[in-house]
Amino acid sequence: MFIDVAKIHLKAGNGGNGCVSFHREKYVAAGGPDGGDGGRGGNIVFKADDNLSTLADFRYKRKYCADNGENGKASRCTGKSAEDLIINVPRGTLIKEAESGKVIADISDDAPVIIARGGNGGFGNQHFGHATRQVPRFAKPGAPGDELDVTLELKLLADVGLIGFPNVGKSTLVSVVSEAKPKIANYHFTTLTPVLGVVRMGEGSSFVMADIPGLIEGAGEGIGLGHEFLRHVERCRLLVHVVDIAGSEGRDPIDDFNKINKELKVFSEELSHAPQIVVGNKCDLTDDETVEEIGKKFRDMGYDFFPIMAPIKEGTAELINHIAAELDKLPPVKRYESEIEPYETVTVKKELRTFTVRKENGEYFVENCDWIERIMNTVDPDDYESLQYFERVLRSSGIIKALIREGVQEGDVVHVNDFEFEYVL
Ligand code: GDP
Ligand code: MG
Repeated sequence: MFIDVAKIHLKAGNGGNGCVSFHREKYVAAGGPDGGDGGRGGNIVFKADDNLSTLADFRYKRKYCADNGENGKASRCTGKSAEDLIINVPRGTLIKEAESGKVIADISDDAPVIIARGGNGGFGNQHFGHATRQVPRFAKPGAPGDELDVTLELKLLADVGLIGFPNVGKSTLVSVVSEAKPKIANYHFTTLTPVLGVVRMGEGSSFVMADIPGLIEGAGEGIGLGHEFLRHVERCRLLVHVVDIAGSEGRDPIDDFNKINKELKVFSEELSHAPQIVVGNKCDLTDDETVEEIGKKFRDMGYDFFPIMAPIKEGTAELINHIAAELDKLPPVKRYESEIEPYETVTVKKELRTFTVRKENGEYFVENCDWIERIMNTVDPDDYESLQYFERVLRSSGIIKALIREGVQEGDVVHVNDFEFEYVL
């Protein structure tokens, strides 16, 4: 089955915690702090794989977690950093933020892209000892790795997209001009999977043609087959619109053409402006006058028109040469730019700064700041310096500022999650 959209959950590895430890050796009194740093959590990296052609693998496995970094150890031993988790996707996969639909990355090139960043390891207490603080009883926790939901959306990379009603001969055309062998049969919707064919022009030049399953009325609004396939022509540089010139199934080629273009417009205004040429197939089933007459109508509408008989390759060479010449004039296959600032993808980092402050009965409540829990777990309330470190966190995250803004006074009670303390200037 051809799957071209999937929603998955990513969780990059957390950084390992820094270690609290003191050097111990016989005859050495009060050895210094020697707690090592935590290792980095694994990133989640996406990479294009040309052996894949659908997102079917993502239908059953929806959760992807990279390993956490190891915690630091005594004797200044740094914890091991975790390996990155590499996820292979078909070339042309867009990765979007599930909620906003914003594009994070377009996996069309060979370069792997980090989508979820592993957290940095926390510093061990080896970093916190100095002349006036010889016994640092705290270390930093590892930073959490990014956690986010993404939608994968495959948009095939093809220069030319074939569009048209079912049964007009699109698959036949691809099969005679490229090495691709899509299923051809005299019933509707034989093509259920887009097929890419490489059309070789000799002298190393070639282009990629996509056989898109038939479009039917209502496709633009998602009725029946078609809507889901329209995304695959979005990147195409040129649309080749195939009509059954003989109207062999009681169809009217001009009417069909207009219907399909209406669908394109409903789906995407941009797509409806993509350059198009018209191919009149099944010329053997009608007479030359009809071909000439219908061809003239398309030309009058401003389109280049090519009459062909796909199965016997009649007219296909002229068509291919014309397509190649048009492609030379057109911009390259569309690449999607990231719509997200790099720091935005690091969702946890943004979360790191979030909190709310509320005043009730003269007491202050700092809430919605789960991130601080991890830090508080490492704070020793009986240790002056550890508390100082906690205070610095409150300051650097803007919590103190927010409390002052709310009017906090010396001696007021402040609650941070379950933790309660008196505010001192
Ligand atoms: P698609 O649905 O647009 O991909 O159409 P297919 O390529 O599967 O063709 C549908 C049917 O039309 C098949 O039975 C083909 O053999 C037939 N066909 C395709 N091109 C021609 C043509 O030029 N003349 C005639 N007579 N039949 C054709
Ligand atoms: Mg077909």
